[in-house]
Amino acid sequence: MFYIDPHIHMVSRITDDYVRMSRAGCVAVSEPAFWAGFDRGSGEAFDSYFRQLIEFEPKRAAQFGIHHMCWLCINAKEAEDVPLAREVIAMIPEYLDRPGVLGIGEIGLNKNTKNEATIFLEQVDLAVKTDELILVHTPHLEDKYKGTRMILDMLTGDARVKPRRVLIDHVEEHTIGPALDAGFWVGMTLYPTTKCTPDRAVDMIERFGSDRIMANSAGDWGVSNPMNTPDFIRTMRTRGFDNATVHKVAYENPLRFFMQAKRFNFAPPIPVRA
Ligand SMILES: [Zn+2]
Repeated sequence: MFYIDPHIHMVSRITDDYVRMSRAGCVAVSEPAFWAGFDRGSGEAFDSYFRQLIEFEPKRAAQFGIHHMCWLCINAKEAEDVPLAREVIAMIPEYLDRPGVLGIGEIGLNKNTKNEATIFLEQVDLAVKTDELILVHTPHLEDKYKGTRMILDMLTGDARVKPRRVLIDHVEEHTIGPALDAGFWVGMTLYPTTKCTPDRAVDMIERFGSDRIMANSAGDWGVSNPMNTPDFIRTMRTRGFDNATVHKVAYENPLRFFMQAKRFNFAPPIPVRA
């Protein structure tokens, strides 16, 4: 069965991960811009990072039959340096004509600070003005509920934001309902330690249905596992979901969300209706 990993940080993964993902049926990934494990000190560092996402990773992925798309932003962890964050935001428009750039993300909150909220709102404004999709990172553990509430309030408080063009990622049992109710897409992140397991993700499909929902591994430099997405597919099957529903969640849903992007440049092996 073909699948998409809609949120994975391949710049921090070895090439063998592409091999394993390809063997498991992965045909496309989307890679949000995020923290790189250390704070970058200059705009040039982000310039190199964006070029790595746009120019280098698609070539590395293509060797294994995987189509690579990406998102651009300054992430919440580095938003405390407001002047640098604004320098990076000012750089983003020059990359917004490049193929495979799906939109602005992953923006959001980390520790729910004032500076994080300021930079989040400035990037929402950029996305609205440039008609870009938005991918949102919600905070972890004890900061998650409050941070997600703050994010949803900021997004729904801006009448220009169209919820069907926004993905709220890293949802869990206590945050998925409000995000879906407000009309947003949601992503469930399958992490070995924090966030969600394949079984908990399948529980959420049972409770909340299979519309506007997708699952990802968010594989990065920390303790994470790209194989969690195929494990989630296997768990859906063993829990009794039919092939059509598994295909919808693991393949069609991410594509339906991404197809709204102006520079969506993937010809999927199995076509999907918009
Ligand atoms: Zn991420």
